[in-house]
Amino acid sequence: MRIARFTDGEDPRFGVVEGAPGQEVLHVVTGDPLYAPLQPTGETVQLEDVRLLAPTIPRSKVVGIGKNYADHAAEMGGEPPAEPLVFLAPNTAVVGPDDPIVLPPFSAEVHYEGELAVVIGRICKDVPLERVPDVVLGYTCANDVTARDVQRTDGQWARAKGFDTSCPIGPWIVTDLDPGDLRVTTRLDGRTVQDGRTSDMVFGVPELVSYVSRAFTLLPGDVLLTGTPAGVGPMDAGQRVEVEIEGIGVLANPVVRR
Ligand code: MG
Repeated sequence: MRIARFTDGEDPRFGVVEGAPGQEVLHVVTGDPLYAPLQPTGETVQLEDVRLLAPTIPRSKVVGIGKNYADHAAEMGGEPPAEPLVFLAPNTAVVGPDDPIVLPPFSAEVHYEGELAVVIGRICKDVPLERVPDVVLGYTCANDVTARDVQRTDGQWARAKGFDTSCPIGPWIVTDLDPGDLRVTTRLDGRTVQDGRTSDMVFGVPELVSYVSRAFTLLPGDVLLTGTPAGVGPMDAGQRVEVEIEGIGVLANPVVRR
């Protein structure tokens, strides 16, 4: 099932997406599926007639994982870490499909990082590996946009990976998906710049959710970024970046400087 959050000019609503690419229809549901059972209203709208929003605004946080693909760790000049490398981004970093990525004035080197994102479905803490499927609502595409120069000079990653618009997610949440071996590609102005598979993660989704839940209580709607494959590189104002994940869809965002 694909769950989208959208607006037709009024307050955000949620819908279940059905139909082939280019012909999608949203079956509108009552309330927020994170907090209430899915209840169709009976209303349907064409996808082309609405604007998709970030499928969740994390209630408390985005948890990121650094260097979780060996080939990306190598291009950053090192080995993958022995344990997951965890960082946080604020929920104010999150934007949705087609929202602009605004290059921050304090950086001259902003990179795309296409990633699989996990959306948490229920409050949880100290989740054993075998219980992880119970706490995951589903998966979406993410771009862990990174001010690479600031990441190097700050040491801490908060500013480099947490500035406004640095975490586009979407286009929707797919609930019935095995995250174990999905193709992840990133395109910059239509040119493929990253092409990896989630099977190449150093730590898989169950390990990551379990690991971070030992440090943080996870809330419904919180997002876990799972790391990026090799091929990261700079984006400039005027470019368009797309993250596509097999079984989910395409997240596209323009890049601007203000
Ligand atoms: Mg990343």
